[in-house]
Amino acid sequence: MQNQYFVAIVGAGPAGLFGARELANAGARVVLFNRDIKAGGLAEYGIYPTKHTMKNGLRKQFRGVLDHPNVDYYGNVTVGAQGDLSLDDLRALGFQAILVTAGAQGTKWLGLPGEQFTGVYHAKDVVYFYNKLPPFAQKPYRFGKRCAIVGAGNVMMDIARYLMNVQKAEEVIAVVRRGPAEVKFDKKEMEHVIANLDLAALDAEIARVMPIMQSIGQDPAAAKEKILEAQPHAEAKTSETRFRFEFLASPTQMFGDADGYLTQLELEDNTLTLKDGATKARGTGVKRLLDVETVIFAIGDKVDESFGLPVEWNEFVKNPNPRFPIDGISFESTFEDVFVGGWSRKASDGLVGYARKDGTNASKAVWQYLRQTLSPSAADTDAVADRVHGLDKPVVTKDDIQRLEVVEAEEAQKRGLEEFKFDNNEEMLDAMELTMMA
Ligand SMILES: Cc1cc2nc3c(=O)[nH]c(=O)nc-3n(C[C@H](O)[C@H](O)[C@H](O)COP(=O)(O)OP(=O)(O)OC[C@H]3O[C@@H](n4cnc5c(N)ncnc54)[C@H](O)[C@@H]3O)c2cc1C
Repeated sequence: MQNQYFVAIVGAGPAGLFGARELANAGARVVLFNRDIKAGGLAEYGIYPTKHTMKNGLRKQFRGVLDHPNVDYYGNVTVGAQGDLSLDDLRALGFQAILVTAGAQGTKWLGLPGEQFTGVYHAKDVVYFYNKLPPFAQKPYRFGKRCAIVGAGNVMMDIARYLMNVQKAEEVIAVVRRGPAEVKFDKKEMEHVIANLDLAALDAEIARVMPIMQSIGQDPAAAKEKILEAQPHAEAKTSETRFRFEFLASPTQMFGDADGYLTQLELEDNTLTLKDGATKARGTGVKRLLDVETVIFAIGDKVDESFGLPVEWNEFVKNPNPRFPIDGISFESTFEDVFVGGWSRKASDGLVGYARKDGTNASKAVWQYLRQTLSPSAADTDAVADRVHGLDKPVVTKDDIQRLEVVEAEEAQKRGLEEFKFDNNEEMLDAMELTMMA
């Protein structure tokens, strides 16, 4: 057997998959370990479910990576201090470098009173739910008639779209910390929901915050124009949901009833200040209440603090003096053989194209490390296979996934659907003719 550099990649989202391709093409032997049965990460379980063309295009590229002869895949395997395999287990299996592309799996709660009420959720859990990722797909969610989403980005927009189109909420309120000039969503995402936007409410809200905007030199009319840029391509309404914004407002606490169900969200009004050219929100102490049954925090995520790498400011700590920087960026953790890429390097940052570039560059850093410090090894893939198949759970290979893809495609055709996805591990494993217990 020819010696090859032997690399473990933790997480088969876009960063891990494109990173695997880079290393496999360079000649390394790569093994992907993925928490979920299916590969794809947030491309499979985050991107809005009806973006079929984008999702299918990505799935095709991911399939190409998995088919590479230098790549093995083990799904349903969690790596980490509390996982099925630890980083030391991977080292003991002979991996010479470990690239962590496990995304940002930690939840960035604000620590507000009332977060425990039923009806208070974090965006990641909701998007995992409606994209059918087990076990989130099986959890009960309470989407009420009036729903607030805290955030001003594309994830907020995706969730607003879901609440309007699928849950048919009566009212969806985007709670935005800063003003109309600081919203972060793309025009393209607004096109899906703008037909439901209450234009009179937008005008009233912009008039309300106008003095604050003007006090720091902002142009309210220009901000409104930008928000409404999506109008010429507005998608037709599929519900009577009223969609509106609450600008310059931060959640401070939630109230609920005796049964533990959310009833109200308390907001504090903000004002804007300019500091070093950046617009900052500052609380005014003035509070008000919104009657809502659901609050969803779409404020970004952080990396998994229990993973086993040091964490600071929502991110894994990077080597500040990288030995192998790419474009001036450090992809190195505090361990010399452990690298980070994609949303594991910078949590909740950028679209798939960015994760792809980041995973690829992380792999370039890994490759430089291997070439400059180590010799190729025996790359004992049989020992890895024995180890994962010895775990007390079913482990999924790339061939199993291919079978699952065939069964799901057949099911979609039978049901006359554009796409069909099993929403639980049992049915996925049955489809692959694997059982729950090894
Ligand atoms: C709601 C939402 C909508 C989005 N919509 C779009 C869009 O329309 N267009 C677009 O281009 N981008 C979109 N994005 C962004 C895009 O999904 C991300 O840029 C990209 O998926 C990040 O890739 P990643 O590989 O770094 O992480 P992820 O995609 O999160 O992948 C992480 C992988 O790691 C695995 N994993 C996690 N923990 C472990 C562990 N401990 N052990 C083993 N495996 C583990 C997971 O199972 C997963 O497969 C969206 C993101 C969100 C949240």
